[in-house]
Amino acid sequence: MGYKVVKFGGSSLADAAQFRKVADIIKSDDKRRFVVPSAPGKRFKEDIKVTDMLYKCYELASSNVDFSEEFQKIKDRYNGIISELGIDLSLDDEFGVIASELKLRPAKDYAASRGEFLNGIVLAKYLGFNFVDAADVIIFDTKGNLVLDATEKAVRSRLKGLDNAVIPGFYGRNTEGFIKTFSRGGSDVTGSIIASSVKAEIYENWTDVSGFLVADPRIVEKPDVINVITYRELRELAYMGASVLHEDAIFPVRSSGIPINIRNTNRPQDDGTMIVSDDFNFSRESLSHTITGIAGRKGFSTINIEKAMMNSEKGFGMKVLKVLYDNGVSFEHMPSGIDTMSITVDSSQLEPVKEKVLADIRRAVNPDHLEIEDGIALLAVVGRRMKNTRGTVARIFASMAHARINIKMIDQGSSELNVIIGVSEHDLSEAVRRIYDMFINSEK
Ligand code: ASP
Repeated sequence: MGYKVVKFGGSSLADAAQFRKVADIIKSDDKRRFVVPSAPGKRFKEDIKVTDMLYKCYELASSNVDFSEEFQKIKDRYNGIISELGIDLSLDDEFGVIASELKLRPAKDYAASRGEFLNGIVLAKYLGFNFVDAADVIIFDTKGNLVLDATEKAVRSRLKGLDNAVIPGFYGRNTEGFIKTFSRGGSDVTGSIIASSVKAEIYENWTDVSGFLVADPRIVEKPDVINVITYRELRELAYMGASVLHEDAIFPVRSSGIPINIRNTNRPQDDGTMIVSDDFNFSRESLSHTITGIAGRKGFSTINIEKAMMNSEKGFGMKVLKVLYDNGVSFEHMPSGIDTMSITVDSSQLEPVKEKVLADIRRAVNPDHLEIEDGIALLAVVGRRMKNTRGTVARIFASMAHARINIKMIDQGSSELNVIIGVSEHDLSEAVRRIYDMFINSEK
């Protein structure tokens, strides 16, 4: 029988009521045997995540300030969950160890990791599952990078023969023996590693939304959920700012061909979003829309360069790009005409070196005209089906024209997986809505 690895985010484990939902979900499917919890998250909007409370304790401890009041709040949260669930468990020993470690040798990652560690103990007890400390299986090198091979080996040998286990997310141990965490939201990565190590049939990532949305709900009212998305499409959308999953969570499962299913702990009846490999057989989905998702990001600038006969001047592009390289600015897009070139860059990278970049370009290629335009937004229209559908770009143009939105740049990736358009920042929301109408509403 195959396994399912299930990861639950902080809001899914924020209080006893959420723990009960999580246990119901796990117990409703025999295959859900390896569980990766986050630390308790927010119970309501103004609440504070346990991880943030732990960072606070660390800050106080490292400046030699008494942190017992802050630490008491953390104890209260766990003790509240334990007593409400009615389990026979005391974390007093663990609390004692953590407090004295923080006093003796305060370490940031150690402090932060204790949220997942303690939550893992509570969840394992509540489910009647084995507890496996992530420090024993997730291995980092001394620079703080994950060592995937050694980790997968350690996970496999530790889980061998175990029917079930709770493995806390977010942290591991480096080769010098110190606790190390991933960046924020890193329990997603732990789940992915466990799934690839045990060759799970699926990695279920349980959170508080029913999957990825086709567009940002702050812009489009009640957008559709994306049913199926490929890893590549997800990368494109994530780059443009759509986020639900930690970026690094994709790689371990992607290389093992394991799908990720984003699910909602508060609405387990929803199918959520399935993230599948790029060569997935899509024959079932013949009725879906042409596009998969739309995402946009503000904060770009374009460097517009004009020079007669630019086209025939050898090395022109190279010289311009070298200026950017030398100034530490990376470029996003570079559409060019016969006598013009326009380079889109991240404004925050350009800003500190703006004048120097202009001067260096002047010196390098002696343009007839050179200017920088700020306040550009990039919008990505992403979809694996665009490749076999004619007229996608024409439809984008038409919807922008009807809204009198000026397209400043358009770039179709060579994979034909995405079309990027540059518009003025104040047109971004309207552009997203128009494209949503054109491709989603009108295809319904
Ligand atoms: N608890 C950690 C955080 O708040 C890790 C996680 O939730 O994935 O970032």
